[in-house]
Amino acid sequence: MARSGRKNGRLQMGEISFQKHLIDRYGRSVDYARISLTDRCNYRCIYCMPEKGVEWVPHSQIISYEEILFLVARMFDIGIRKVRFTGGEPFVRKGLTSFLREVNERIPDMKIALTTNGALLAKYAGEIQNMKLAGINISLDTLDEGKFSEITRGGELSEVLKGIEAVKDFGIPIKLNAVLMKGFNDLEIPDMLNYASNKGLLLRLIEFMPLDNEVWAKDRFISSLEVIDRISKLDSWAPVILNNEPSLPMGPAKYFKNSTTGQCIGIISAVTSHYCENCNRLRINSSGMLRPCLFSNYNLDLRPVLISKDSEELFRIFSSALDMKPEIGVKQGKDEQRHMVQIGG
Ligand code: SAM
Ligand code: SF4
Repeated sequence: MARSGRKNGRLQMGEISFQKHLIDRYGRSVDYARISLTDRCNYRCIYCMPEKGVEWVPHSQIISYEEILFLVARMFDIGIRKVRFTGGEPFVRKGLTSFLREVNERIPDMKIALTTNGALLAKYAGEIQNMKLAGINISLDTLDEGKFSEITRGGELSEVLKGIEAVKDFGIPIKLNAVLMKGFNDLEIPDMLNYASNKGLLLRLIEFMPLDNEVWAKDRFISSLEVIDRISKLDSWAPVILNNEPSLPMGPAKYFKNSTTGQCIGIISAVTSHYCENCNRLRINSSGMLRPCLFSNYNLDLRPVLISKDSEELFRIFSSALDMKPEIGVKQGKDEQRHMVQIGG
């Protein structure tokens, strides 16, 4: 889908022409979509949802695998080249691995990746071993059993560690994602770095995001600048920033390399330094709402066109979503779906 004409330096909406390329009003190329497969989760992480839980989307409103297959195929037609399946927890949705196989078969050139809490990875490892996956991001905020149970409200660390062990040698790129919270896991950074290094995996440290007043505790926030400062004070670490390293994944993380050991680490400044300038993504939640920006509360309903399989209308909705993509994501007003587990992280 291409835009024609420029006014005041901004690209203007033009005729929809299918040139397999999505460009938004600010000239950003959009080729990545995150699709939430479910809003259900087997954990209740304190930074992701409130203690009392959230009201689940009724099963009848969750987009079906068949609808998602149609969506992924049409998104490929208009230039989306990578889809990440997330949630909630994608592995709690029945039939996930068969669905992934089908995406691979039907849209073989679409890169597919997963974000998971890892709890069910060991169980499904055999089924994903030979799958063509562009990557698996596994959340791991702490290596302390008690803290793990506390942050996930009842999760078992050993399950996740078993899951990591089960998939780490499959040849699928694996990233470990840790959300940092002051006074909770920030002192564990050296242990996390050692763990990732021993397993040969890439660790990314993420700033705790204020999506949600019910779970956001400002005194828990620790900035990425502070994190990198602390890492540089470790005896074993001399971080050097990496720019445009082809072997490292594209995305919101800034990567640093330990000049003495060669270990790399990613830092995601989701709060202090917006990645917006290079934002290449759209989000679709489990009920088929297309969200142009994580922080804004605009949603466009794809469900009717997924049911009717109306490709033209679907392309028009994507075109509107591009127009709605803000230059910089700023949290706006009241948002009915404000918990990460509902938006699809
Ligand atoms: N259940 C899967 C998991 O935990 O990886 C996938 C969904 S989860 C919502 C996706 C990612 O969002 C996880 O890495 C999680 O740590 C992150 N996340 C959730 N709430 C967050 C917050 N308030 N700030 C930063 N990251 C958050
Ligand atoms: Fe579930 Fe992931 Fe949210 Fe934790 S972060 S509650 S595992 S969706």
